Amino acid sequence: MYPIHRAKKGQVFIISAPSGSGKTTLGKELLNSLPDLQLSISYTTRKPRPGEQEGVDYFFLTREEFEKKRMKGELIEWAEVFGHYYGTSRKRLTQHLQQGKDVLLLIDVQGAIQIMEKLPRVVSIFVLPPSRDALKQRLEERGTDTAEEIQRRLKVAEREIDYWSHYDYIVINETLTEAVEKLKSIIVAEHSRQEVMKDVVQRLIDDFRPRQR
Ligand code: 5GP
Repeated sequence: MYPIHRAKKGQVFIISAPSGSGKTTLGKELLNSLPDLQLSISYTTRKPRPGEQEGVDYFFLTREEFEKKRMKGELIEWAEVFGHYYGTSRKRLTQHLQQGKDVLLLIDVQGAIQIMEKLPRVVSIFVLPPSRDALKQRLEERGTDTAEEIQRRLKVAEREIDYWSHYDYIVINETLTEAVEKLKSIIVAEHSRQEVMKDVVQRLIDDFRPRQR
């Protein structure tokens, strides 16, 4: 499924979604099936949830440590979400891209907009639940939040949806399989864009018309 003749430099893919829309699960599925896709592991000041590992799910920092990184300009974007700080390392993002990897950022709308303003070509995807009831049900089934917290997340979701028009693609997460297929198709299609394929085509042109020696 993956194109063999692809550009050497990686691309940035952002996925944002209201809490409970299945973004983490979708991200994991994508990372399992696309070997050249690398997750950008964020910094956060929130405490690890059971099962979460340092350097796998997040880099967990104190507020002071986070502030220090922010002040030193080490974060390409950052935001406060549900009372905690989250941010992306500028250095790691650049390194992945230079290694030719695509980078997947699973970040909120505030961070996504900062990245869109700073980087020339990012592909942004907004994942939405099929309905408010479906989102409420998913949050309840997850069993990690109190009724009050669920109401708060639904309110935040309502505000986040207003940012839909900033994104290149919208994917409704009706079923996991279908949503993953759509996300993969977007990534594959983006690799075929004329401007992305320029170097590959140039190599082909050189192959057809070798320069005179
Ligand atoms: P959670 O605590 O549930 O893992 O994530 C809460 C929210 O923070 C999610 O919307 C998630 O996408 C967002 N988030 C995670 N990492 C980052 C980041 O590096 N930057 C920004 N802006 N948001 C992030």
